[in-house]
Amino acid sequence: MLSYIRRHLGIKLFISYLTVILVGVIVLATTAEFVVPSAFDRHLAAMSAMMSPMMGDSTNNLELDLFNNFRAAVTEAMILAALASSVVAVLVSLLVSRQVVAPVREMMLASQRISEGHYNERVQVPGDVSKDELDELSQLALRFNRMAASLEQTEVIRRQLIADVTHELRTPLTAVKGSMEGLIDGVLPADEGTFQQIISEAERLQRLVNDLQELSRVEAGAYELNIHSYRVSDLLAAAEARLGRQFEEKGVTLEIALPNDLPQVLADEDRIGQVLLNLVGNALQYTPPGGKVQVTAADQRDEVYIAVSDNGMGIPAEHLPHLFTRFYRVDKSRSRAGGGSGIGLTIVKILVEAQGGSIWTQSEGAGRGSTFTFSLPTAR
Ligand code: ADP
Repeated sequence: MLSYIRRHLGIKLFISYLTVILVGVIVLATTAEFVVPSAFDRHLAAMSAMMSPMMGDSTNNLELDLFNNFRAAVTEAMILAALASSVVAVLVSLLVSRQVVAPVREMMLASQRISEGHYNERVQVPGDVSKDELDELSQLALRFNRMAASLEQTEVIRRQLIADVTHELRTPLTAVKGSMEGLIDGVLPADEGTFQQIISEAERLQRLVNDLQELSRVEAGAYELNIHSYRVSDLLAAAEARLGRQFEEKGVTLEIALPNDLPQVLADEDRIGQVLLNLVGNALQYTPPGGKVQVTAADQRDEVYIAVSDNGMGIPAEHLPHLFTRFYRVDKSRSRAGGGSGIGLTIVKILVEAQGGSIWTQSEGAGRGSTFTFSLPTAR
């Protein structure tokens, strides 16, 4: 019995109403028993003092009758009041139970269904009331639905990620397996070219795994940001030092043109280095020999815009909105052959935003170069 009560909010509410009524009745009964008679006596004594000269001895009998009748009337009234309030308690507790217990129960069942994997489960929220006018329970329901939606979204991303990773791993694995079988069957010659092909597929797998590891790290925010003020020229010099040789080898010009009065920026040196290496590296990768990559910067009040432009292969307009989505590549086969996993820009966006900036892309279209611009807060 006790455990049944403990498990049911509606019964607890009903019992608390009954307790309040019981306490009220006890207080009333005690008052009627102890306080009312003495008060009544006092008033009656004052009255009989006035009436005795007129009524003589019969005053005492009248007093007793009056007192007994008054007590009977009080007891009757109290029984009626207790009955009426008990009926009201039952009705009110039924109503409150419906209003309080039903939504709580609905949320309990919904959370149970969500924990079983039904992420599309939602609870009812009054639709005809504005958000500010919702009571605590409806607010809870609203937040519950938001939590369910975000869980659903996470689940969709997780499934998509597994599908993407599986797809990305399959291609190089199939190539390695094919080459190995070719070697065993004697279809492929056991020469340097074949082995080199196998190594380059293995390297691609390695890059993909490294990129995925880095992506999961930055997505989870599992890194520390050490924000300090830096001169943009110093940040760029580090990237230039790392990539300069590759530019020379490919025959692409790297030009850095910064205004003299550029304010310092607030950034994490390592993370912004990663961003620049990625953007300048991409510009180099997607620009043919003889082309040019230019890095410029502009003071925009509270921010500095840093732009990496190239006159390479460009990006058709329909691809621009998707570039920062993981595994997205404009030219799947070409980019893959070049080793791209389509994760670099996703990481870049997360890192730029973590440092208080944003990033966007412009391109006049295929063959007409592209510009990647990101902003950083100034240190003023
Ligand atoms: P990837 O490792 O494939 O380069 P990214 O996320 O860095 O992955 O880039 C995503 C895609 O955006 C690339 O596959 C490429 O199609 C396109 N892209 C990025 N930078 C440039 C650029 N400078 N010029 C043309 N296309 C680019």
